[in-house]
Amino acid sequence: MKLYLVPTPIGNLDDITLRAIKILQSVDTILAEDTRTSGVLLRHLNISKPLYSYHIFNEHQTVQRLVNIMKEGKTLALVSDAGTPGISDPGFLLVRECIKNDIPVECLPGPTAFVPALVNSGLPNDRFTFEGFLPHKKGRQTRLAELAGEERTMVFYESPHRLLKTLQQFIDVFGPDRPASVSRELTKLFEENQRGPLSELIAYFSQKTIKGELVVCVQGKEPSKGKAKRVYDNDRDDTENEDD
Ligand code: SAM
Repeated sequence: MKLYLVPTPIGNLDDITLRAIKILQSVDTILAEDTRTSGVLLRHLNISKPLYSYHIFNEHQTVQRLVNIMKEGKTLALVSDAGTPGISDPGFLLVRECIKNDIPVECLPGPTAFVPALVNSGLPNDRFTFEGFLPHKKGRQTRLAELAGEERTMVFYESPHRLLKTLQQFIDVFGPDRPASVSRELTKLFEENQRGPLSELIAYFSQKTIKGELVVCVQGKEPSKGKAKRVYDNDRDDTENEDD
């Protein structure tokens, strides 16, 4: 009786871990966000297992049935189309119900898009906030207004057709000079990491046909006086006492 959350590659099939393969080989059933997408990966790995659909549209209905199956002693693995299940993908409800029902849950470490995007950005990452997708319509302006004073680097998932609109809204809220990055097609053949002030990024992407998957990172507001400095600020002093 157990639920595994198994991260899968975000582009490069070699990024599956040895342990992920072992777990997928060992479980009774694999739950997939899209059985066709995961079927391609499983065939590539030579894994033949019962594969069931588990996606955001049937998540609520399915959770109780899956909990019952695990309580009967079965072990399940949840995979999403790419990356780590539960990160801007279905998974949270199932994890919560398993915990409520004393079913062991284990999320394997593995691919996810926001970590390489954040590290590639070169922006401070000692503290950051993962924002996932901004609301598309209702609540978008409110969310952006809430982020205006954020001092940590912010990480957003975005779709190609909304990138220019989002960069313009970031300029309106954070100003044109705010350092940022756009990572496109991470781990894939045409991976691209563009870094610079928001004004340069919008100028660059305005001249392109934007395709593929994207992560946008935006540096936080400069810490206000009296607040803790970022770890990597120039005037870092390693001799400082913890209490200073
Ligand atoms: N569960 C995934 C994870 O762990 O990162 C995220 C799934 S979310 C539905 C899909 C979004 O992740 C995309 O719209 C994009 O913002 C980001 N993403 C996924 N793969 C990517 C890649 N190869 N390069 C850049 N961004 C990617």
